[in-house]
Amino acid sequence: MRSRILKDHLKEECGVFGIMSAEARVSTLTYYGLFALQHRGQESAGIAVSDGREIFLHKAMGLVGEVFDDATLKRLGGEIACGHVRYSTSGDSNVINAQPLVFKTRYGTIALCHNGNLANSIFLRNDLKEHGAIFQTTVDTEVIAAMLARGNGEDLVTTIREVSRELKGAYALIIMTSDKLIGIRDPYGIRPLCIGKIGDDFMLSSESCAFETVGGTLIRDVYPGEIVEIDRSGITSHLPYGKREERLCIFEFIYFGRPDSIMKDQSLYMSRKTAGKILFREFPASADFVCSVPDSGTPSAIGFSEASGIPFLEGLVKNRYVGRTFIKPSQNQREIGVSLKLNVLEEVVRGRSIVLVDDSIVRGTTVKRLISRLRVAGAKEIHLRISAPPVVWPCYFGIDTPSREELLGARYSTDEIGKLVDADSIGYLSLEGLVEATGRSGFCTGCLSGEYPVDVDEINGKLALEGRAMR
Ligand code: SF4
Repeated sequence: MRSRILKDHLKEECGVFGIMSAEARVSTLTYYGLFALQHRGQESAGIAVSDGREIFLHKAMGLVGEVFDDATLKRLGGEIACGHVRYSTSGDSNVINAQPLVFKTRYGTIALCHNGNLANSIFLRNDLKEHGAIFQTTVDTEVIAAMLARGNGEDLVTTIREVSRELKGAYALIIMTSDKLIGIRDPYGIRPLCIGKIGDDFMLSSESCAFETVGGTLIRDVYPGEIVEIDRSGITSHLPYGKREERLCIFEFIYFGRPDSIMKDQSLYMSRKTAGKILFREFPASADFVCSVPDSGTPSAIGFSEASGIPFLEGLVKNRYVGRTFIKPSQNQREIGVSLKLNVLEEVVRGRSIVLVDDSIVRGTTVKRLISRLRVAGAKEIHLRISAPPVVWPCYFGIDTPSREELLGARYSTDEIGKLVDADSIGYLSLEGLVEATGRSGFCTGCLSGEYPVDVDEINGKLALEGRAMR
């Protein structure tokens, strides 16, 4: 049995990448782009390429390095490519649901890559079925595909605009036709998408780290509700009518995005480091050293160390060769699940007091086991500091949140959580502190604050009608 729960985190969505170039081997650059986005989805990977007449597709279950080899990439010849890595939050985890999806429309054959989730997908799916649509997959993406296929706008961009008016939720899309690449971001910009350049050629990606990987540079984020059209003549922006304030998922800054990515013109690494500094300001502690839960807790731990003057040491060592899926240990082998990824450096922790910094607590299972193992290794005191507020509400935008009964922050006070995980003291960064650390505004903070960018009662009403009320 394969399990996705290795670290106690919310789970990412997917990663998308696209490029148009007459010069470069676009399938190979997309492969490397997807490699850089692998942290956003490890279940399946796919690349579609257009040679100007036909679209060629290869997709399969597995990591990017497992799905593609040199021969496959050579077969995918063309001038435009789009690719996808998937973590399934809607639909089953099987190859039929892997992306890109390729389908026919009145505008020609189209490849579609989608990051996000639609809150009203069942409603839309049922409506499409009543009008004769037949579905082969169980993913939201096929609902968007069916709506595009049914569209009859004067051109594809007009149809995309009409379809987006009916979509409720969070989405970033890359659409490839035989001769162009189109990027679309939902009206609130909840899911990220950015534009990059390599030489004179344009790229689209969920995160800017992919541009650097392929030797390119970031130009800017796609604006909320914007449609970006890339073809041989260059790039055209179609801005939405009536601008809405951006509400990017704040978990991109906390954990989802790679630290070397830039979002909202801000370095995620620097923002996480600043979060650690503010965490010290809000919840100071004295100890022999600051230690992170690697890797995601490390920038904030370094920030905490810099602000406090307490040295940063590695007390936990990460096995860098464990992917995010593994053979799930049986109930009585639970410790192995943590040891597979993290081991304690006994020589560093024995007899010493520690500030342990992690980026978030969801269920609390991993941090509890880590603290227990640090104590077995001889740690004198453990002061737990979390560089984000407690997760207390569900996500309505496709992020895989456990039920409220499983969310530690929804059931217990901070002091109770400290006792439950056996920490000597505990402190969570405040929401104000987190936003201050980003140096930006315009975020969705729904799962932390209960304040969502859309009317949750409306979404809940639709979900209830569809028989899948939120947990
Ligand atoms: S509810 Fe939380 S996880 Fe979901 S989009 Fe908003 S901030 Fe992100």
